[in-house]
Amino acid sequence: MKIGSLNIELLSEGKFEIFNDGHINRSLGEANPAESAGSHSAITGINPVLVQQDENNILLDAGLGWGLDAGSSYTGVSNVRTNLAIFGLSPEDITHVILSHLHYDHALGCSFTDRDSVTRATFPNATYYLHKEEWAYALSTATGSPSLPGAGYQLDEFYRLMADRRVQLLSGETTDVLEGITLVQTGGHTPGHHIVFMQSEGEHACYPGELIPSSLRLNHYDTHRFDYDPIQAKQEKIRLLRKVYQEQAILLFYHSRHAQSGRLIKDRDKQYVLTNIPGH
Ligand SMILES: [Zn+2]
Repeated sequence: MKIGSLNIELLSEGKFEIFNDGHINRSLGEANPAESAGSHSAITGINPVLVQQDENNILLDAGLGWGLDAGSSYTGVSNVRTNLAIFGLSPEDITHVILSHLHYDHALGCSFTDRDSVTRATFPNATYYLHKEEWAYALSTATGSPSLPGAGYQLDEFYRLMADRRVQLLSGETTDVLEGITLVQTGGHTPGHHIVFMQSEGEHACYPGELIPSSLRLNHYDTHRFDYDPIQAKQEKIRLLRKVYQEQAILLFYHSRHAQSGRLIKDRDKQYVLTNIPGH
């Protein structure tokens, strides 16, 4: 879809069942009886966002990296590499990788292990952007096992990217990575959680990361057990929804089960409803 002169695409890796202990199954069905029975897994979509601005190819979160490793038994699966190919791009063409946070369901696609068991950056020509508070927090909790599906850090490969100086750690609350592409630190889900605002020629888009993971969470203001600081997450979410509604920005959801984006309207009960975008 077009946002002014920006071209924006959701790259769907598919649906997955993610367990507390970090293991992952590719999900086959829609229903998740285990979830309702209180089991510690969740079915979720994984949808990194590709933003093209002139010669820049920007990725918002990097996906699970399913099947990227040379020794992976999951060959022939959809991942960020195969999805980029649909748009005539290769991982070498990516210039910026913006990470909302470092939980593994957003960051494992940043790197892979090659045939010689060497860890490599999936996007060898990209600069990776991360808030420095996210890195500090990830390091401080890296030894703990995740208590909730998807809410853990797996940093083994990310150390390689840090050592190779591929990661730019940001310190401000707001950073313009490129003209019209602004990162805002929200905290809440994790201390260094970022969201991304995009604007071009008077049109707006927003990538809310884990603040609003899918449209199913639009009108839920209950504090969330996934969040490091639930009150902060709630406040930031209310602020974000107001801004996005006023600007008629297009929201892009990372965890919707099917790739999903749209603008907000309000129904008779003043609830936010996502609308499809005419012409997109
Ligand atoms: Zn996530």
